Amino acid sequence: MAEITESKNFIHAFIDEDIAEGGRYAGRTVHTRFPPEPNGYLHIGHCKALIIDFGTAEKYNGLCNLRMDDTNPTKEDVEFVEAIKEDIHWLGFDWGDRFYYGSDYFEKDYEYAVELIKKGLAYVCELTPEQFKEYRGDLNTPAISPYRDRPMEESLDLFARMRAGEFEDNKYTLRAKIDLASGNFNMRDPVIYRIRHMHHHRQGDKWCIYPMYDFAHPIQDALEGITHSLCSLEFENHRPLYNWVVENVSVPHTPRQIEFARLGIDHTVLSKRKLRNLVENGYVSGWDDPRMPTLCGLRRRGYTPASIRNFCERVGVAKSPNTIPYAFLEFCLREDLNETAQRVMAVLKPVKLTITNYPEGKSETVTVENNPNRPEDGTREVTFSRNLWIEADDFLAQPIPKYKRLYPDGPECRLKGAYLIKCTGCVTDENGNVVEVLATYDPESRGGDPADGRKVKGATIHWVDAETAVDAEVRQYSNLFDDADPDAAGKDYLSCLNPHSLEVLTGCKVEASLADAKAPASYQFMRLGYFCPDSKDCAPGHLVFNRSVSLKDSFKPGK
Ligand code: ATP
Ligand code: MG
Repeated sequence: MAEITESKNFIHAFIDEDIAEGGRYAGRTVHTRFPPEPNGYLHIGHCKALIIDFGTAEKYNGLCNLRMDDTNPTKEDVEFVEAIKEDIHWLGFDWGDRFYYGSDYFEKDYEYAVELIKKGLAYVCELTPEQFKEYRGDLNTPAISPYRDRPMEESLDLFARMRAGEFEDNKYTLRAKIDLASGNFNMRDPVIYRIRHMHHHRQGDKWCIYPMYDFAHPIQDALEGITHSLCSLEFENHRPLYNWVVENVSVPHTPRQIEFARLGIDHTVLSKRKLRNLVENGYVSGWDDPRMPTLCGLRRRGYTPASIRNFCERVGVAKSPNTIPYAFLEFCLREDLNETAQRVMAVLKPVKLTITNYPEGKSETVTVENNPNRPEDGTREVTFSRNLWIEADDFLAQPIPKYKRLYPDGPECRLKGAYLIKCTGCVTDENGNVVEVLATYDPESRGGDPADGRKVKGATIHWVDAETAVDAEVRQYSNLFDDADPDAAGKDYLSCLNPHSLEVLTGCKVEASLADAKAPASYQFMRLGYFCPDSKDCAPGHLVFNRSVSLKDSFKPGK
């Protein structure tokens, strides 16, 4: 498992205080939880929460529970539960045997609600949703709650009948009796139970009343013995209610809620609802479309757990909202793959290169390094012959200033790992398009650059032997959204979609060693970027690669 950085963040500072002598959790094991709502796949924002929840537990030799927050019966979908588990394991985190469902506590939630009624701290209200809004008051006016003083016995009776299914949806609610004049509207006698005649994916039709998140969540935390309930900033205003619940029902523990800023990334949306919309309306091929910011999408794109964890750790834990450039996520991936990915040669937009003074029918092998950063990865043999494929843009019939690649009578260029060649001309079709580049080689120059010590003015060019090359499809991706902030409030994110976010190249030529490539694997296609076999569509005989990330492009003419 990758190491969690030791840098102090404010959450750790709070925890240090709490577990110090005399602190509220002195002598206790630090215990956190990750509570995803199983209504979609995890995205990179959840990774940040995962790293905070599981990473904090790791740092303190504590525990982290995985709890499906399925309190709300409207949205859960069992399909997502397994996917969420798979994604968390893939990132390298483990909850051991501490896997829970929020809905498993419904009976307990009910008991605690009854306890509140008996203590005079909750009552059954019969305002309609419209009236509820109307009576909410404003900062200068307290809320009005006409049923607040309903006798306890009557509330108990009504609540039992609510559970028994006697009333239709919204007819009654159970409200906590807190403070109608509070400056925090969440404390103005919030609804803690409502009637919903809905099927629950695990509880079936057992319940027709459901607890509100603000009531259920602190109880779940407390029952599981969570010490630190870490959540995103939108729950800050709910903390007083969280504390109120924990203090007023007889739960065995008193967890502490601490909030952190949500992760935002530019050029993408991080909301399951919006991501789901992209999937359901066919804007992308699925939750695991390699352009999606979901964990399964990033994985299919070629992101590694280490790159994502590094990214989240470096972004750090902040108290104020922050949007991180997508380019930084790419930077973290490049950094990881630079260390680990095997170098291979692939030509994406091929043109034929004929070495006119190389004997026809001859073939030889040259040796190339698998990864210059890891000599221990060794070398491999690549075949070389008279007919090669090179990138079409490594040749220009008419050179432009500072162009150091192939052009007629241009400089000597190194074919990576093989010979020096000099371009002598080209063959064009009737429309003037280049169909073949011609060159001569220097038989004395064999050897990897700069093995023979010869320095040349021209660039080093990648190539693939036409005799042994394998065809491949390559999918190149760019931002799913043109707009830097498609997630901004009020923006129509669908109108910000980049129509060119996927470019499919067919007829690409890759070296023979890739003939059996399959996911998971990452390669650096020399001079082009990092690519991975597509986990769904790549098969022997039909190679499909995704571009994970480009290299920093230092090969542009003029540089
Ligand atoms: P979404 O809006 O995408 O549905 P959510 O908060 O409703 O997100 P949950 O499944 O409830 O999704 O989230 C599980 C945990 O992940 C919560 O603790 C939540 O705070 C956290 N989380 C979700 N999105 C982010 C984010 N962008 N950055 C940090 N944490 C996040
Ligand atoms: Mg949520």
